[in-house]
Amino acid sequence: MRNIIVGAGLTGAVLANLIAIVLKEKVLIIDKRDTIAGNIYDEKDSQTGIIVHKYGPHIFHTNNEKVWAFLSKYTEWYDFSFMPNAYINGKFVNIPFNINTIYQLFPSEKAQKLEEKLIREYGYDASIPLLEMLKNPDNDISFISNYIYEYMFKNYTIKQWGFDPKEIDKSITARVPIRISKDNRYFTDKYQGIPLNGYTKMVENILNHPNITIKLNTDFKFVSGHYDRIFYTGSIDEYFDYKYGELPYRSLEFDVREIDKEYYQKSAMTNYPNDYDFTRIVEHKHFLNTKSDKTIITMEYPKQFVLNKNERFYPIAKPENQELYDKYMKEANKIKGLYFIGRLGAYKYLNMDQAVENVFEFFENRIKGELINA
Ligand SMILES: Cc1cc2nc3c(=O)[nH]c(=O)nc-3n(C[C@H](O)[C@H](O)[C@H](O)COP(=O)(O)OP(=O)(O)OC[C@H]3O[C@@H](n4cnc5c(N)ncnc54)[C@H](O)[C@@H]3O)c2cc1C
Repeated sequence: MRNIIVGAGLTGAVLANLIAIVLKEKVLIIDKRDTIAGNIYDEKDSQTGIIVHKYGPHIFHTNNEKVWAFLSKYTEWYDFSFMPNAYINGKFVNIPFNINTIYQLFPSEKAQKLEEKLIREYGYDASIPLLEMLKNPDNDISFISNYIYEYMFKNYTIKQWGFDPKEIDKSITARVPIRISKDNRYFTDKYQGIPLNGYTKMVENILNHPNITIKLNTDFKFVSGHYDRIFYTGSIDEYFDYKYGELPYRSLEFDVREIDKEYYQKSAMTNYPNDYDFTRIVEHKHFLNTKSDKTIITMEYPKQFVLNKNERFYPIAKPENQELYDKYMKEANKIKGLYFIGRLGAYKYLNMDQAVENVFEFFENRIKGELINA
């Protein structure tokens, strides 16, 4: 079997690994970039030793034992709990919004009243999607949910997506939980961490097998020859030369700066919903607790994706975009041995653990399934 994987991101790497080790077949993996690891690519700054996440901050978190066990064969982990902040009305406060945030924003008497009301209404340790809380008619709860919406959510969403939150699919907006607890951790998954030597090294180890050949600076557009199986982790509209139109994406612009002081901010990430044009500032040294008398930060500016100008980052979850994707998929399903997978191939926002989980499922059900039925 001649196998080619288009895209050496996490999806492509895990798939190449399974083809090489489980099927014991040879596989060529290509990427149009000059690096492996796709959007989880990171690199060590030679001066400070700080590992910089080039395409936005990446924190690994999962409840999936199988995914964790698989990746742990290729990396050790730095035990990192993500506790970001947001800058709201002149104060740095904890997010996701929790009871500590209430005390940071309001006078203690008011905060206590709100805390008691929320616990009575939802129970301690509950995690309530903001949109659900906004429907609650109680005066105090309505006050707090509208405050969160106005000062922490609305403008951030407008900056991030370029349109009003109401226009976006709830699968995106419901991701904002309100915590009725004092847990400042952004993720509550059983397993959390950052690869001790970086994501790129982890991907390099996943790809390190004699059956795997890597070719960088290689766009599929310019690849010739016959392949029995094409696994495409790029965008499906590009594969079909945009014959039905372009799938929209949101892009990002990164302003990376070296700062001549030990720390810039308290946390790895601070969100700025209402101030400045950037959405957040990431300070990379926090991820692995790297010691240096300098620091490196990245300011993140959301942008519209423009073909051949910037990168695709977030698929835009709207019904008409899904319809366009489905139209392309119908076309793809007619071609034997052609598969679309991964963040771009599936036109879906996928966390890293979901991307790996998807490859496991795809490999079991489609690839091994097809071999059994052949
Ligand atoms: C800003 C941001 C922050 C994130 N933070 C987190 C986080 O904290 N935790 C988490 O779990 N997940 C996070 N994610 C999600 C994570 O980035 C994805 O799960 C992961 O990158 C998916 O990997 P992938 O291989 O499917 O896609 P990608 O990493 O995009 O890889 C696709 C690869 O295909 C290549 N390619 C495309 N077309 C072609 C072509 N025609 N020819 C050759 N090569 C091609 C591309 O160059 C790219 O390298 C974040 C995502 C973003 C955008």
